[in-house]
Amino acid sequence: MPVKDVTVEMMSADAMSAQPRVNLLGLTRQQLESFFAGMGEKPFRATQVMKWIFQEGIDDFAAMTNLSKALRERLQEVAEIRLPEVMQDHPSADGTRKWLLKVDAHNHIEMVYIPETDRSTLCVSSQVGCTLACRFCSTARQGFNRNLTTAEIIGQVALAARIIGLPENKGERVITNVVLMGMGEPLLNLEHVAPALELMQDDLAFGISKRRVTVSTAGVVPGIDRLCELSDVSLAVSLHATDDALRDQLMPLNTKYPIKELMAACQRYVAGKPHRRVTFEYVMLAGVNDSLAQARQLARLLRTVPAKVNLIPFNPFPGAPYACSSPAVINAFREVIMQAGIMTVTRKTRGEDIAAACGQLAGQVTDRTRRSERFLLQDLPGGGSGASSGSRAAHTIKEHVTQ
Ligand code: SAH
Repeated sequence: MPVKDVTVEMMSADAMSAQPRVNLLGLTRQQLESFFAGMGEKPFRATQVMKWIFQEGIDDFAAMTNLSKALRERLQEVAEIRLPEVMQDHPSADGTRKWLLKVDAHNHIEMVYIPETDRSTLCVSSQVGCTLACRFCSTARQGFNRNLTTAEIIGQVALAARIIGLPENKGERVITNVVLMGMGEPLLNLEHVAPALELMQDDLAFGISKRRVTVSTAGVVPGIDRLCELSDVSLAVSLHATDDALRDQLMPLNTKYPIKELMAACQRYVAGKPHRRVTFEYVMLAGVNDSLAQARQLARLLRTVPAKVNLIPFNPFPGAPYACSSPAVINAFREVIMQAGIMTVTRKTRGEDIAAACGQLAGQVTDRTRRSERFLLQDLPGGGSGASSGSRAAHTIKEHVTQ
């Protein structure tokens, strides 16, 4: 064999070994079928492997005994099933549990499990950090590192299911609802979020109904329209203000997609879907957005969209420029919206004894970008950066329940 050919062969062998293995967790049923078709296998291999992963909690191909030995060995070479790793586990006396998860050597995210009598909700992250810089949000202070992959998003659900108990172990579903209300803006990562939503609903994976999967957005208007094309899950919108001047200030994204455009996108999302409502989240900031006039304005604004409202007591964090409205103010605000015939729930505070507002655990370990450091210097009283998201002061997790 001429030397030239040997070199080519060696190079291609090298190139092959350098190929990262495919994390099968991130493939939808159809993608997994194509993956097996590419290996010359029948589509039912996808069903078998999905059952092993999601129903049996097995991630070692060697243990997948209904696959041939040759196929198992081939899978070990080209594929993997890799879940995020638990770095910290914070169980609360009330059953709420919050985890800090590692997705790679430099990146950490948070996940929260909230059991209730009639449902159990898992709150998952969609990005490491966030680009949106909402002023009341702890995650915003960490800046943005990267989008999560589909495998990392669905991997959170798979991990929680394994920790809490797989369906067949308990005879009932341990995760009835999933909300994308952890770190990040899901509609700025739809490429990876949409297949994860599909897997959440797939009977071979988690079989959660579309109404019990909720995407929460700060108001990315084109993302709402795209989500409508791709999926039929429940939509939650973080509104937090009823006029553009205030919303621009609280959520800089509003300068790009103002309230009128956002409400129109919400109308389009539920158009032609009877009995579907958009959940509007409204964080209660003392003296900022909690007046009775603002409550009336909110009720007026929501006349145009089938809506329900979640009032969220503000979850303070070190250096936060806001305080939470008093319970009396929140009740009075709620009363006004209820009087207008809009279902309104005040989120209960859960997991008070365990840790921080969303974003704070990860803030202790995730590298901050330059952008967030600038943000901190501008915004913290006295300009210090030390009292940022790195603090371990006890704060609360809010109940992320929308359905
Ligand atoms: N980016 C998405 C989802 C992540 S945030 C969104 O904006 O909806 C999930 C919810 O928590 C949002 O409603 C957000 O406004 C709210 N939130 C953020 N920081 C908070 C805080 N400190 N206290 C209470 N709610 C907060």
